[in-house]
Amino acid sequence: MARLIRRKVSELKSLRLRDKMAGKFYKIRCKDCGNVQIVFSRASLPVNCIVCGSLLVEPTGGLAKIKGEIIEELGHGEVTS
Ligand SMILES: [Zn+2]
Repeated sequence: MARLIRRKVSELKSLRLRDKMAGKFYKIRCKDCGNVQIVFSRASLPVNCIVCGSLLVEPTGGLAKIKGEIIEELGHGEVTS
C-alpha cells in the first residue's frame, strides 16, 4: 500500500515538472509605448516590442525575465492568433 502511494507521488512530481518545462504565455504591455504583445515565459531569444523595439523579454537560460508589465497569464497552448 505504501509503495503505491509513493508511486503516485512521483507521478505527480513528474507532471508538475512537465508543467514547469512547458512554460507559459503572458500578455504584457510595453512600458515605453503601451503596445500589448503576447510572449512566452521560456523564450530562448530576446523579444522586442514590435512597435518601438524596446526589450520585453530577456532570456536567462531558464525562465525568461519579463521586462514589460504582465497584464494576463494565458497558460499554455491557448494562444490562437
Ligand atoms: Zn514598445
